[in-house]
Amino acid sequence: MFGKILIANRGEIALRIQRACREMGIRTVVVHSEADRDAKYVRLADESVCIGPAPSALSYLNMPAIISAAEVTDSEAIHPGYGFLSENADFAERVERSGFTFIGPSPDSIRLMGDKVSAKNAMLATGVPCVPGSEGALPEDSKECIRIGRQVGYPVIIKAAGGGGGRGMRVVHTEAALLNAITMTRTEAGAAFGNPVVYMEKFLENPRHVEIQVLADSFRNAVWLGERDCSMQRRHQKVIEEAPAPGIPRRLVDRIGDRCAEACRKIGYRGAGTFEFLYENNEFYFIEMNTRVQVEHPVTEAITGIDIVQEQIHVAAGERLRIRQKDVVLKGHAIECRINAEDPFKFTPSPGRITSWHPPGGPGIRVDSHAYTGYFVPPHYDSMVGKVIAYGADRNQALARMRVALSEMIVEGIQTNIPLHRELMTDARFIKGGTSIHYLEQRLAERPA
Ligand code: ADP
Repeated sequence: MFGKILIANRGEIALRIQRACREMGIRTVVVHSEADRDAKYVRLADESVCIGPAPSALSYLNMPAIISAAEVTDSEAIHPGYGFLSENADFAERVERSGFTFIGPSPDSIRLMGDKVSAKNAMLATGVPCVPGSEGALPEDSKECIRIGRQVGYPVIIKAAGGGGGRGMRVVHTEAALLNAITMTRTEAGAAFGNPVVYMEKFLENPRHVEIQVLADSFRNAVWLGERDCSMQRRHQKVIEEAPAPGIPRRLVDRIGDRCAEACRKIGYRGAGTFEFLYENNEFYFIEMNTRVQVEHPVTEAITGIDIVQEQIHVAAGERLRIRQKDVVLKGHAIECRINAEDPFKFTPSPGRITSWHPPGGPGIRVDSHAYTGYFVPPHYDSMVGKVIAYGADRNQALARMRVALSEMIVEGIQTNIPLHRELMTDARFIKGGTSIHYLEQRLAERPA
């Protein structure tokens, strides 16, 4: 096992990784920007290194600075968390070439899954069902594109192979609008992702977002840890996640989960990962794979009792997976609310000093947050300041506990979306379960001004 791990991230996930390491007796090094000097996890770390000024491009995305920090502190491995460099194959390669272990999949796996066209092809080859669409990239030839459009059937969605974060996508309702949409998406994708390749998918009108968590070692052993429903989204950003996904027949989830684990074995995947699917009319359609730990991993930890971050570290250290599929037993229900520093009505970011921070507690409540009274939420990064996770024997109990938790939680000095979460936890449609990815936005549009 590693003696010392460098954490190349910030905020709640830096603290989460640090807690996993400390429990395992591993020393931690935290790298931070000038804006994060006073963060709780920086003080708790065995060592810390300032790697640059506040803007991420100069700090959390600064590969040479991070690798130098690993060198001067004699770290053995680097945990990238989520976001920033976590899905950057070049970074993973540089980490390994500099003699450190990258806590994540191989650069080749990151590259394969980072390109959505190659990811889809790999999934089709391993028997994971995908959204019907073009076979790979769209050709230059307009006639051929029109033919593919007719074959797929409108509406369709044009997506950039290199896209991410909900960018580089365009929905097309009629053949007349197709060629223009392809040209525009190509141009944008070339500028934004340095890759003009686009492909076409059938546009699903009312799907749910359901994803499968996997865990694999370097010896082609792989398990899946149940599913999560992340359909409550605003602008393609998840707001609430839960596990299991309400109302989906177990045999359908089991079949897709087994395929995902099998796909990991076939492509030689290592580490934690998430297969994201759209779910509509009792069918799963793969859209992309995330080759890292997810924000919403705690809901899976709650229902499986497995510490996903510790398992990432174990397999990165070259150990065999300690969990067999039969050991993965889903018990109870968990819901996560992402707490963002933002206006709960207009959603504008609300950075600043937290003058009062009272997190909730009690049975089944977990709060993952780096915030505290007196903490300054910097304006430079993502607005998420924490996550509240409620676990219950069933969904109703998880909901009830979440309502109590949110009613206890007080954050002052900044605005947060806690009022929105309180509202949603009493929303009849959400309580019923199984809302589509459009539900939250529709619900927000109906809110009184
Ligand atoms: P990103 O990497 O940018 O998150 P995804 O491929 O995961 O891109 O898609 C992001 C979101 O876009 C999905 O969660 C869904 O809301 C929507 N989307 C993507 N593909 C389709 C599709 N074929 N039909 C309907 N919605 C889609």
